[in-house]
Order: sequence, then structure tokens, then C-alpha cells
Amino acid sequence: MQIAIRAEVIGDDDLKRTIMLSNLACQECIDIGMKNKTYNKTRLHHLTYHVVRASHPELNSSLVTAMRDQASDMLKQLKLKKKPTKKQYSSIRLNHNTFRFLPASNMVSISTITGRKKYVLNIPPYFNKYFFHESNSARIRLVDGRIFIDIIVDVDASKKIKVKKIIGVDRGVYHPAVTSDNTFFNSKHLREVKGRYRYLKRCLQRAGTRSAKRHLQKISGRERRFVTDVNHCISKTIVNKDCDAIALEKLRTGRMKRKGKTGKKTRRLIGSWSAKQLLSFIEYKAEMLGKPVILVNSHYTSQACNRCGDIRRINRKGSHFNCCVCGYSLHADLNASRNIACLAKGKTSRLSVNQPIVACDDIKASLREELRASIVTSSAF
Ligand SMILES: [Zn+2]
Repeated sequence: MQIAIRAEVIGDDDLKRTIMLSNLACQECIDIGMKNKTYNKTRLHHLTYHVVRASHPELNSSLVTAMRDQASDMLKQLKLKKKPTKKQYSSIRLNHNTFRFLPASNMVSISTITGRKKYVLNIPPYFNKYFFHESNSARIRLVDGRIFIDIIVDVDASKKIKVKKIIGVDRGVYHPAVTSDNTFFNSKHLREVKGRYRYLKRCLQRAGTRSAKRHLQKISGRERRFVTDVNHCISKTIVNKDCDAIALEKLRTGRMKRKGKTGKKTRRLIGSWSAKQLLSFIEYKAEMLGKPVILVNSHYTSQACNRCGDIRRINRKGSHFNCCVCGYSLHADLNASRNIACLAKGKTSRLSVNQPIVACDDIKASLREELRASIVTSSAF
């Protein structure tokens, strides 16, 4: 994953002029590319290199080629349908030829029109933790006469992969998340706030006046931002738990929405459910901490008993789980989250131990068997 360290550069006029000239050179490449209908880097290079070097003799060849690459990417993004424009103060890309990050001295070394120069950075202390990561590229731009740089660092999560403790997370409509170590995140407050907005929206839509419409526009983003905040809080708590990996189920919300027998209230709840956002937040936060996220199949996770592995529908009644075989009884979502943890554990141990792949005609039967086997072999809880 890549992270941008955003800092102010204590720059000089040379650097400012470098940015402006580079943008002009980039625009020149864009113009030529549009004229010849190409964004191919090699073709663009043959068409532009000597022209741009001649029109901007102050820029060195590395800066010119970097601008050609940027022009090519901009043209590719708009598929030559629309002409991209570069302003004099737009951001320019720096690569390993034109830039170097020197975290020990809080400096960067950048190629300018007067040669290579070192500049002091004003970096917020929050970014100190990313200093030991590798950086090969950056973006630099002018904002009201000040120079800002985004140093791109690669945060590699794959270094730490030894998985010992896995936390399973079951996402649901009534409980946004339940983890296998008995943490329940409840949605009471969330539902209350959502209900309040729904009522307000209904009243305003009914009124239909100009001021009502203005008010509607004002509240349109507020509810969404509230839900995002809740998901940020939940995901932060989950990834900071004492574990090496986080397991979640692959959700099939589309299928749930299509199911005919659900009532209006349930449909509304599912429709406004933000499980996908929660997953994306958990994924990126876990990656930053070097914890892998394991996605497992959600089949039968709510029907299987976590103690004996028995799978049948009648084991679960609403939010309560009661095994018909061994009498194991607990909250249904908690049972599901523990099954998810077991499945993930089975998945990771199978990666290291070679097991024969058994051909199975019936996919459902194979899924049942996989879940049962992981519950029986796992001694996580
Ligand atoms: Zn049981």
C-alpha cells in the first residue's frame, strides 16, 4: 500500500520556476499527443523529446522525460476524448532520477533548472512512523506561492505473515460487527440517528417548498458522514485488537436484497447497510498495521455449531443459537464470528501444509465439509 507524506518545502525561486516550466513542457507533450492521437510512451517520446528540449533548454532530460510520462498518463486517463490541461502551478511528478528523500536530515534533494539542490522540509510529526519505508516518487506543487510535496512511500504489509491469533468478524444488520472475542458493536444509536434523518427527510419532501429543498440539500451529506464515522470507529477498534490477522466473511448482499419474503423494514435496513465500507476500512487499517485480512466463504457460518460442527438450519432461531446435538447455546452472531475465525485458521494452516485436493461434485457439500473440518481441528476458543 502507498501512503503520501504531505509536507511543505522551504523552497526558492529556482524550484518554483522548475515547477512552472515543467508544467509548460507537460502541456506541450499533451498538445503533441492529442494532435497525433497517441498516448503510447515510446511514440510520444520520439515525437516530443527534441522539441521540448529545444523549447525549454533549462530543463534537464530527466525532468523532460518525467513530464512526457505524466502527459502520457493524463492522455490515457481521458482516452484522448478530451484534452487535459496543465496549469502553471499544477503538481508535477518526480521520480527516482529527479528526487531523493533524506529522512535523517528532514530534507529532499530535487533536480531544478540550476542543477541538483537540497531543500528543508516541514513535516508534521504524525508521519515520522513512515520514515523507514522506501520512497521512489513524489508530487510537488505550488499553492499560493508556497511549495508542497507529497512523498509516496510503500508501506509493505507482507513482511509479517506468521499468523497465530485470528479474530473472526461477523457483520450483520442489527449488530454491524461481532468479533469472536465477545465484542458486540451495537447499532442502536446508528438506527436512531438514521430514523431521525428519515423522518426529517419525509417531512421536508412533503413540504416541497424552496426552503425545504435547501434544507434537504444541507442534510444530504450529514447522514452519510455520520455512518462513515461510525464505521471508522468500529474498524479502528477491531484492527487494534490483540491479533495477527482478521477474518471476515464474503457477503452476498445482492442476493439478500433480491429475496422476496423480507418485509419493508428489513429491506430498508439491508438497503442502508454499509458492510462494504466497513470491510474497506478494516482492510486498509489492518494493512497499515501489517495484519492480513482473510476473506472466507459465508456459507453455513450461521448454521454450524462451533463446538461440535453440526450443521443444520434449526440450530439457529433468530438471534439465538442452540445446537440440537450437543446443546451448545450462545448468541448466533458470536457463534458465526467464531466459525469465521475457524475457517480462516483452516485456510492459513492449509497454505503451509500440503493437503490433497479432493474433487467434489457438490460444492455445497464440500463447503459444509470444509467448515466442519476447520471447526473440529481448530482449538482457537
Ligand atoms: Zn453442537
